[in-house]
Amino acid sequence: MSTTNVLDALVVGAGPAGIGTALALAAVDDLTFGVLERGRIGQTFLEWPAAQTFLTPSFTGNGFGATDLNAVHPETSPAFSLGVDYPTGPQYAKYLRSVAAYFRVPILDETDVTGVQRHDEGFEVQCARGPVLARTLVWAGGEFHQPNDPRLSGAGLCDAARTPQAWEDRDGRVLVIGGYESGVDIACHHVERGATVTVVDAQTPWDAGSGSDPSFRLAPRSRARFTAARETGRLHLIAADARRVTRDDDTWVTSLDNGTRVSADSRPIAATGYGPGLGPTEHLFHRRDDGWPEVDEDDQSTLTPDLFLSGPSLRHGGLKFCFVYKFRQRFAHVAGVIGRRLGKDVGALEAWRSAGMLTDDLSCCDVECAC
Ligand SMILES: Cc1cc2nc3c(=O)[nH]c(=O)nc-3n(C[C@H](O)[C@H](O)[C@H](O)COP(=O)(O)OP(=O)(O)OC[C@H]3O[C@@H](n4cnc5c(N)ncnc54)[C@H](O)[C@@H]3O)c2cc1C
Repeated sequence: MSTTNVLDALVVGAGPAGIGTALALAAVDDLTFGVLERGRIGQTFLEWPAAQTFLTPSFTGNGFGATDLNAVHPETSPAFSLGVDYPTGPQYAKYLRSVAAYFRVPILDETDVTGVQRHDEGFEVQCARGPVLARTLVWAGGEFHQPNDPRLSGAGLCDAARTPQAWEDRDGRVLVIGGYESGVDIACHHVERGATVTVVDAQTPWDAGSGSDPSFRLAPRSRARFTAARETGRLHLIAADARRVTRDDDTWVTSLDNGTRVSADSRPIAATGYGPGLGPTEHLFHRRDDGWPEVDEDDQSTLTPDLFLSGPSLRHGGLKFCFVYKFRQRFAHVAGVIGRRLGKDVGALEAWRSAGMLTDDLSCCDVECAC
């Protein structure tokens, strides 16, 4: 990829959102594009704690119109290439690397984007290799680098659930702050290794369960692990929020907003979610009332024309695109919008629709399973 010419499209981030969007852009006839990545391809997954695996299963249903849930291109399947159904982080990074190499995606790795400016003709993107110019820009920087700090006094005494130390074996009593997927995942991990774990969360997300959207209820495998952990008698749940953590020798004491206190034998683990991670494009997005980036029906910033968002921070109304199988539905849509805007032939993107990997009409997503 040249850093001097003006590209038709530039993607920042080489995770599943960035690689997947780039693969859709590659299907647009005669479009110049590239990807900038500050680390290596799949960097986030290389940083995942070793014991963490996907919660969305992979299975090679591609030939029958059921593309592998974790695939980022219609003709690929992590289950097929890796031989596993719940990939670890490094395994999934390997899948992304092999897909990028097979389809020859132009990527500059070890290239941190530090600034983005909008000009009349497009974008000037700053990185250590010099400015990169592009007519359109896709931000696919992910959320992993922006964990939410727990809102309590003594937050510095906690370990974030994304860090390897939170997954190391712990004896005795463990406290997890936050009870959705990440909190339940790490709580079950420690129960399975013999610890006694308390999870605190006033929202009791472990109970959520009226709808069929996995963005609002525990995934089936998480639910099964949660049930097994409960049956040991060593997983305790408290419907309250943590307010303050203090340390007293080898005991960490957490005060809750219901007036009680929980003691733990190691640093409390904060599983308190992630922010949108917009990095150097932060100033180029309006925010919704709930704090997520505001985009139009084409996933384009409502503040900055020709800037698109790809990945788990995408929200449309009440829809959350927080899993690969959700946000990948927009790769071909965004590529199609960019291609048409630049007068290119986008007909090849129909292959994404045939594979069930293109959703233009977002009202289709809001369905409930009958049973
Ligand atoms: C703990 C955890 C578990 C999850 N489990 C699942 C799951 O089982 N199934 C599922 O579908 N989803 C899961 N998700 C959701 C997950 O966020 C996404 O599936 C996936 O990582 C998002 O892909 P992405 O490409 O948007 O972001 P990432 O994979 O984070 O990729 C973003 C890339 O952008 C790069 N980058 C960031 N800033 C810059 C910059 N300034 N310059 C250059 N490069 C930059 C990063 O280095 C990174 O490589 C999980 C998320 C978390 C946090």
